[in-house]
This record gives sequence, C-alpha cells and structure tokens, in this order.
Amino acid sequence: MGLRQLVICLGDQLNADAAVFDNFDRDHDAVWMAEVPEEATHVWSHKARIALFLSAMRHFAEGLGEGGTTVHYHRLDADRAQTLGEALSADLARLNPAHVLVTQPGDYRVLQQLRGAVRRAGKRLVVVRDRQFFDSPEGFRLWARERKRLRLEDYYRAMRFDRHVLMDGDQPVGGSWNLDHQNRRSFGREGPGMLPAPKSFQHDAITREVLALVEARYADHPGRLDHFDWPVTQEQAREALADFVDHRLPAFGPYQDALWMDEPWLYHSRLAAAMNLKLLSPRVAVDAAEQAYREGRAPLQSVEGFIRQVLGWREFVRGIYWLHMPGYLDNNALEATHPLPGFFWTGETDMTCLRQSVGQTLDHGYAHHIQRLMITGLYTLMLGVEPRRVHEWYLAVYVDAVEWVEAPNTLGMSQFADDGLLASKPYCASGKYVQRMSNYCQHCAYKPEQRSGDTACPFTALYWDFLIRHEDRLRRNPRTALQVRNLQRLGDEERTAIQDTADAHRRTVLGG
Ligand code: FAD
Ligand code: SF4
Repeated sequence: MGLRQLVICLGDQLNADAAVFDNFDRDHDAVWMAEVPEEATHVWSHKARIALFLSAMRHFAEGLGEGGTTVHYHRLDADRAQTLGEALSADLARLNPAHVLVTQPGDYRVLQQLRGAVRRAGKRLVVVRDRQFFDSPEGFRLWARERKRLRLEDYYRAMRFDRHVLMDGDQPVGGSWNLDHQNRRSFGREGPGMLPAPKSFQHDAITREVLALVEARYADHPGRLDHFDWPVTQEQAREALADFVDHRLPAFGPYQDALWMDEPWLYHSRLAAAMNLKLLSPRVAVDAAEQAYREGRAPLQSVEGFIRQVLGWREFVRGIYWLHMPGYLDNNALEATHPLPGFFWTGETDMTCLRQSVGQTLDHGYAHHIQRLMITGLYTLMLGVEPRRVHEWYLAVYVDAVEWVEAPNTLGMSQFADDGLLASKPYCASGKYVQRMSNYCQHCAYKPEQRSGDTACPFTALYWDFLIRHEDRLRRNPRTALQVRNLQRLGDEERTAIQDTADAHRRTVLGG
C-alpha cells in the first residue's frame, strides 16, 4: 500500500502534539522535513539564526525517528534542492502520498511555495490550524470585522476574558487590566546590580555539527556563533522557562523598558525563539507565569506584563499579519526611501546606543524589545529608511525572527509604515528618552539635550527633523499633536539648523 499521509513539518513547527499529527499512523504515514539554502539566504540571515533552526530541526527529526516515525529529511549538506518548493516537488513525485498536510506556516511566502508544489503534483494541500496559538487567523478576522480600529488593549482584554487567563471570575485579577504604568522604571544611577545569568545550554554532537556547517557554508553571513547557547529541544525550552520564572520574572515587569551598557538580557525571558519554533507552548509559558503569581513567587505587575506580551501582543501581531498579507510588506505610509546604513551589519558606529544594540545583536542574535523598538527601530524611522529594507534586516538578524511576528512589529509598530493599522502613533522620541531609560548616553560623545551642531545627539536632531518633515500628519493625530505643538517654540533659524544637522548626519551614515 502506498503512502497515506505526508505531513510537512517546517523549521518553526517542531512540536509532535500539533493537530497535524492527530490522525498520524506510523505504519502508513510519514513526516517530511527539509533544510534548503533559500531559507538561510532569502534574507542575509545571522549565523545563529540559521544554526538554531537547523539544530532544533535535526533534534526534532531524531526524536521522531527514535519513536518509529518515518522522516524524509533533506539535509543542507547533502541535497541540491534550493527551495522548499523544489525539494517537495521531487519527493511528491517519488512518494506519491494520497494526502499532504501542513500546519499553518508562519510565512506567507512559504505557504504559497508549498501550495504551488502540491498543486503541480496534482494534489491538494491541507492546511491545519496551529493550536500552539491561543487564537487563529479566522478567530482574529471575526474579532476584527466588528471594529473600526484594531487596538491591542481591546483584543488583549477579550483574550484574557475568553481564555480565562489571570481572571477572578469575570474580573481581572487585582481589579485592573493594565499595569503598564508600574512597568516603566529605569535602573537609576546605581544600575541594575548583580543580574541573574540566564540558563545556558551546552552543545551536543548535533549542535556541534550544525555550528561547523554554518561556520563553513555561511562564513560571510552576519553575526557570530561563539556565544550560541539557545535551547534547541522541548526539554531545554522547558528548563529555560523554569529558569526565567524562578529568577527573572519577578523583576521583569518594572524593568521591561530599561536598558544598560553590556547587559543584553536584563530580566527578559529569552523565550521568543523557543516559542516561535514551537519548542515551547505559549500556553505553558502563560500558565507558569500565572501560577508564579498565585503562589506568591512573582508580583502581579510582572506577571501581567509578561502575559500581555504573550497572550496579547504575540497573538495580535499574528492576526494583523494574516489579515493583511500579502500586501502588508509593501506598506510605506511615510514614504521613506533611504537605504539601511552599513553599520547595521557591523556595529561600527560612534553612537553608543546603536553600537550596543547592534553589537549584541551580532554577538547573540538577540536584542530585547526596547532595543528593537526604541534604539534600532526609532533610528531607522527618523532617519527615513525604506521600511522594506528595515524589515529585511530584522528578519535576518534575530534568532526568533519569523515573518508573522517580525513584519507587523517592524513595519507597523516600529516604522509606522502601515499608517496606524497596528500602532496608534509613530514611536518617535529624542535622545532624552534614551538618556532617561539607560546609561548609554553617559558613554557617548554626543549630547542628548542638543538638537543641532556637531555634538548634537543624532537621535535628537533626527527627532525634531522628523516632526518638521511630518508636521501635518502628526498634528492630525491626537496622540502626537502635543509633540508637534512644541515645534512652535522653534524659530526659523533653529529649524534650519536642526535640518542641516539631520542632513549632515544622513550624509555621514549613508554616504553621498
Ligand atoms: P521578553 O521581553 O521576555 O517578552 C516575553 C515574550 O513576549 C517574548 O518571548 C515574545 O514571545 C512575546 N512578545 C513580547 N513583545 C512582543 C511583540 N511586540 N510581539 C510579539 N511577541 C512579543 N518578536 C519575535 O518573536 N520575533 C521577531 O522577529 C520580532 N521582531 C521584532 C521587531 C521589532 C522592530 C520589534 C519592535 C519587536 C520585535 N519582536 C519580535 C517582539 C519582541 O521584541 C521580541 O519578542 C522580544 O524582544 C524577544 O525577546 P524575549 O523572548 O526575551 O522577550
Ligand atoms: Fe544614543 Fe544620542 Fe545617547 Fe549617544 S547621546 S547614546 S547617540 S541617544
């Protein structure tokens, strides 16, 4: 008897409890997995991002094989197929399965490729709901259909209510849905003090082999591998979660937005990659955080802050992605056209905040949210970099980057390219914000309070230049109207000086 079901398992679908396995019969069905060059090169991927996907895929395939499942696995170093579509086409002709199934992919491009390959083989691709998420694209669409404006806060409250997360009956635990106002602390002069080091995972034979392969084959790609210590199995992901809940969750909330020199992790969870590859269920992560609160091991402000990110933002951005693809990537509401400065790939800049954020990104494939939003993202927004180029960078350099979550965060939240679909206002701020939230400016030659001149902080000059360039649009938005009103305090001479400083900075970092 021929093959009954071929279950496609992508690099970000590494979970044997997925619905796609519900009717899996080892005697008649098989799993299909492929490492292909295009997934490492369609954007110029960080070495650690490639290594994480390959190592986690190989561990997962090995586990399936040990359990008696047949896995048709394409290895990068032993195959000529360039794309997932090519590799799949060849196997469909050879294996001729009666049915082909896949969990809803995290990337529109990949879904189209798989659909094309399966159609060309004269078959139909069955796309199965990804139950690792709390919501589905269809559920989000229904929620969105009833609303004029889509706002995280409304969605988050509905999700908490419907999924009964952090609730006492029909009321939010503690009486308040949102504790953000308690979660904006900086470390002050004394700094964060001794921070708990996150759990680090040793390399086994599979990871060592993958690291050597990536180092040899992708030597010219950005980033380095000598710090690679990410969880690559479900067991390790659960250990990473326990480590976070025990040691960093209690202070996660208050210091969520803080930044500090040479401290890449602070109190952040480092769990996004494990959740995005499906090594860790977000439900398990949310339950563990809620349990810590109920047992008195973590304060409400931290637990609510964490749950807001995972149950709120993570699900919300996925809904936005599937509601607006494929056109979403072409958005450019602010008509920004500049290229990405070269130092985004090297970290070589005299702006300390950017040197730190880009530097640790290249070292680890990681930066925390405020570094992504209020350092690298804020800078490209105000410099006027074309959003598509910014999107390609973010998709390339983070170990947790998968398009469904990266694109709305970059194009919507950070670059305002979608004209307010996701965020109610552009996140624009001057160097004074960075000064307030970090100690970066104390180690920088520029002056955050200065708007023009040679020693003016580029963020501050670009901020005022941004307000001038987008004055009309920002005045119409009630959330930015106040910021624009401050422009009235500037005389013509000062406006010109600011714009000259911003232009000179653009020439320095972009050439020309
Ligand atoms: P923590 O700070 O510990 O947060 C806990 C968890 O909440 C994260 O693991 C993540 O799963 C979730 N979360 C937090 N914020 C968000 C958010 N805005 N959207 C979705 N989930 C969120 N996240 C990705 O997973 N992949 C990306 O490619 C990605 N690209 C981003 C690009 C930009 C420009 C910005 C501003 C944010 C991006 N984020 C992305 C969201 C967020 O920055 C990362 O999830 C977070 O920094 C990962 O580190 P962590 O696991 O230590 O998170
Ligand atoms: Fe960044 Fe400006 Fe502060 Fe320097 S002074 S670290 S460029 S915000």
